[in-house]
Parts: sequence; C-alpha cells; structure tokens
Amino acid sequence: MRAVKSRDTAPELAVRAAVRALGYARRYRLNGAKLPGKPDLVFGAMRKIVFVHGCFWHGHDCKRGARQPKDNAAYWLAKITRNRLRDAKSLRALRADGWSPLVIWECETRDAGAMSRKLARFLAD
Ligand SMILES: [Zn+2]
Repeated sequence: MRAVKSRDTAPELAVRAAVRALGYARRYRLNGAKLPGKPDLVFGAMRKIVFVHGCFWHGHDCKRGARQPKDNAAYWLAKITRNRLRDAKSLRALRADGWSPLVIWECETRDAGAMSRKLARFLAD
C-alpha cells in the first residue's frame, strides 16, 4: 500500500492541469507543509487552498471510498477514521485562520469538465 501523502499522483496532476488551463498557473505553490493538513495547492495571495484527496484513504462517501480492505480491515478502517477526523480538524483550523479550503476528491478528477467548472467557481469567487 502506498503512503497517504505520496506526491504527483494522477489526481493531483489532473487538478494542477485544470488550474493551469484556467489561467492560475502562477498563483499557487505546491505542498503547504506548514499549514494544517499539508494542502496540495496553496494560493497564498488569494487565501485559497485546494486539497486533492484519495477516496479510499480519506474515506470519501463514494463507491471507491466505501471499498472494504480484505486484509487487516479493522486496522485500515481505524486509520481512515483518523484521517477523516484529521481532515475535518485541518479544514476548521484553516477557515479559522482566514483560508478558504476546497477538497477535490479523486473520483471527481475523472470528469475533467465538471472538475474544471468547480475549480473555476472556487477560484473566481
Ligand atoms: Zn470519491
């Protein structure tokens, strides 16, 4: 199993390509390691943040997120529950600090048009 926070995953690359196509290529930096939850894209001047979350690891309410691991199910479910709690805490902390965070789920990156519209709305807001 790969690490939760591996870099340059296909969903992350898809989000970055969409952001670039929308004309925001120079407005963000990657991997805000010092911010709660270590966001994937940080639009500093705009006070906006985009997380790209894997559906399984972050416990998304979708088909892939609901997949049950065959081995060590209790271990993985506990881990995913911890991830969800940490994610919620990170979003609260960011909002309290004046950031606007957006989560793009892995499953959303499969529909490039819909994802691009969502990002456009968020970034233009
Ligand atoms: Zn999902």
